[in-house]
Amino acid sequence: VAEVALETAASFGRPASAALALPGHFDAASGTGVLLPNLPGEWVGRAIAGPVAARLGLPVALVNDVRALTLAELRLGAGRGARDLVCVALGTGVGGGVAIGGALHLGTGHAGEIGHTTVDPDGPLCGCGNRGCLDRMASAAAIAADAGRATVAEAAAAAQGGDPTAIAAFARAGERVGRVLAGAVVLLWPERVVVGGGVAAAGEVLLGPLRAELRRRACVAPVADLPVVPAQLGAHAGAVGAALWGAEVEP
Ligand SMILES: [Zn+2]
Repeated sequence: VAEVALETAASFGRPASAALALPGHFDAASGTGVLLPNLPGEWVGRAIAGPVAARLGLPVALVNDVRALTLAELRLGAGRGARDLVCVALGTGVGGGVAIGGALHLGTGHAGEIGHTTVDPDGPLCGCGNRGCLDRMASAAAIAADAGRATVAEAAAAAQGGDPTAIAAFARAGERVGRVLAGAVVLLWPERVVVGGGVAAAGEVLLGPLRAELRRRACVAPVADLPVVPAQLGAHAGAVGAALWGAEVEP
């Protein structure tokens, strides 16, 4: 990571700030990993920010990857102009982020973990310790398995080609995400919902059922006109958000 950062700095000039987005939880004060269930290797208790900071010669802040994506979409992407935003990223797992009053909202530390909302109390065990989290019930692997395909990309191609099993798999995942988002929308009354991550690239086959379920369930909130839009910044949104985060916080 430090090598990539140094190469980038060589092209664009010395950075004024830096941050690193991680797929999980970390201790911000010590810069060490706490819970990184989807990242291969031993990261719990391991210094992450420190070694990168030492190579770069400047402090490195840590931020969760989907909180970073949320910040990037808020400032520069599909959330631009909104002050209150709910973001969900569908990929290997399901991540989330919330912006309130035009700023990323972290609560007492890691607010935004929409993926660890229970969808099925008797569902598969999640890396967080709970059963049936959205993270497991609408993951790329869950959709692929539901569609009878090896990967979610194959499932998406089959759905685009009209395969009813694949279409139903994306619809089920979309409904699960929509149901969980309905809870977030009822709680927060955001101006916009942004859906990102690689799985969201499947498009309307997922987003259509997601919007329908959200509108069906979030009855008390003004959902009829609530925009539910795809993320705009693509695969590097997390890196863009990390850069923004580094500039916004004191590491
Ligand atoms: Zn979980």
